[in-house]
Amino acid sequence: MNKIKSVIVLGAGESGTGAALLAQWLGYAVFVSDKNAIKPAFKAELEQHEIAYEEQQHSLDRILRADLVIKSPGIPERVEVLQAVRQAGIPVWGEIEFAWRHMPASARVVAITGSNGKTTTTGLIHHILKTGGVNAVLGGNIGKAFARVVLKDLEVPAASRVYVIEVSSFQLEDVVDFRPDIAVLLNITPDHLDRYEYSMELYAGAKFRIAENQNSTDVFIYNEDDPVIGVFMGKHVLHSQKVAVNHAQYRHGTISVGPGNSFDLHAGKLRGPHNAFNAACAVQVARMLGVVPERIQEALNTFSPPPHRMEVIATVQGVTYINDSKATNVDAVFYALQAMEQPTIWIVGGQDKGNDYTPLQPLVQEKVKAIVCLGVDNRPIRSAFDGAQKPIVETGSAAEAVLEASKMADTGDVVLLSPACASFDLFKNYEDRGEQFRVAVLALANTNTTKPSQLNA
Ligand code: ADP
Repeated sequence: MNKIKSVIVLGAGESGTGAALLAQWLGYAVFVSDKNAIKPAFKAELEQHEIAYEEQQHSLDRILRADLVIKSPGIPERVEVLQAVRQAGIPVWGEIEFAWRHMPASARVVAITGSNGKTTTTGLIHHILKTGGVNAVLGGNIGKAFARVVLKDLEVPAASRVYVIEVSSFQLEDVVDFRPDIAVLLNITPDHLDRYEYSMELYAGAKFRIAENQNSTDVFIYNEDDPVIGVFMGKHVLHSQKVAVNHAQYRHGTISVGPGNSFDLHAGKLRGPHNAFNAACAVQVARMLGVVPERIQEALNTFSPPPHRMEVIATVQGVTYINDSKATNVDAVFYALQAMEQPTIWIVGGQDKGNDYTPLQPLVQEKVKAIVCLGVDNRPIRSAFDGAQKPIVETGSAAEAVLEASKMADTGDVVLLSPACASFDLFKNYEDRGEQFRVAVLALANTNTTKPSQLNA
């Protein structure tokens, strides 16, 4: 590390900008290069810190003179610039690796990964730790880049810091020595397989890097009911202390992870068995870091899950509208449908990632009353569910989808937006899709409440 003088950061999103700021503060010569246009906010930050950058191009001659390349997670291995960097033998680290190597020596790291549930579980762990008086801070794939969070602590030292970081498989691809004190692996189900040559083994390999460098003082918390984790764990997790979380520990809205450690979820907002599982993992982390049961229960009662994940928007004329726009793969929808206790009008569709909808078919039979497709090309949904003998309508906007769903719903039903697909065909991103759904539902609520008074007027 001492020999490193010049650092190139490839990609100037949140993690690239965070890495550049940290590298600059550490005294390296930094240059940021992005093949696309850089967002104005990040550009302004780079300029304010006098960090040189280029956009819409990669100056290979300059890049290939670097001692170290820090790569943003969005950049796939196959792109030309990375191939050239590899050929030149320049070390490549992800931002997580870079930040981890520079964090204060006394700090500890809790890292969370999985195909689904990362953001919810990371947020929950952070909330429980804070409630329990632990000096925890949140970062990584959620909110602020890990490098930014570390930089802040280098500028103003914070005692006994615990970093709670969400890490994606893309971020884990570029770790070298990264070794979290506590690693949580929630599940491994098909997602992003296009990046991994459609191989579950390669995808699982990236996820398991979270634990590969751990030693016997570190803890690996994992989902014992996940078959893919079961198959690959023996190969990848060699030295960690293993802590299994399984369905026997979370049932009927209660969590029990040992004597004196039973918790109730009914007073809080976490719904469904998937969230009970997430909570069981979070509780295990909290116990390891010394949070007392009373504070854990208090935190479970007061936690607000992030938006767009099974978020109840409103009840209009007895029909409850739930926004699960973040369900961009089949597995997330599986858990959403499983959690439904009332007849459900299911809004589904978008940019299909080559989904296999078969696992959803029994649940659709059991729980779904009608299907509302929300996408440009709805053929995959139609061909998967035409045989279900349920009404299917096609719509091209969130407003239209909500309207059609409301026409088919009766008092006591649920309208669930849980798309199983990416959003980019009709929306900017899943947040935009969820917000447009929210606006449409609130507009519906408004029409329903203003109608009578308008009539009176
Ligand atoms: P991530 O950050 O991994 O995408 P989120 O917490 O944002 O995870 O949740 C994404 C989607 O997955 C939501 O639809 C949510 O309801 C669902 N989900 C949350 N936890 C789990 C879990 N443990 N297993 C399956 N699906 C889950």
